[in-house]
Amino acid sequence: MYELIVEDDFSAAHRLNHYKGDCEQLHGHNWKVQILFESDRLNEIGLAVDFRDLQKRLNKILHTLDHKYLNDIDYFKKNATSTECIARYIYEKMSMELGSSPHVKLKKVTCWESDKSAASYYE
Ligand SMILES: [Zn+2]
Repeated sequence: MYELIVEDDFSAAHRLNHYKGDCEQLHGHNWKVQILFESDRLNEIGLAVDFRDLQKRLNKILHTLDHKYLNDIDYFKKNATSTECIARYIYEKMSMELGSSPHVKLKKVTCWESDKSAASYYE
């Protein structure tokens, strides 16, 4: 099997509702996002998939979050704006982006809200 990784980042503001502490106040992060894919085959030129294609899809998803107040986005009105839920949001969007692509499978999304803390989502 082959594993492929693409990374990108975005900046946004949020508040963690019902959190008893500082994080309930409006604040921001520069989230780093890493997506892990897997593939069991390579094409005739030795690629599982064109990284630029994956990067473009990730960029499109992060554009919906970048420089936004996350609590105002419909998805996050029903889900917390925690890093865990952000990882799941990106996973679900990427899953839709890939559709039923037979060559590349989405494995895991990891989001870092700081250098020291990250959350992952996978199915
Ligand atoms: Zn926060």
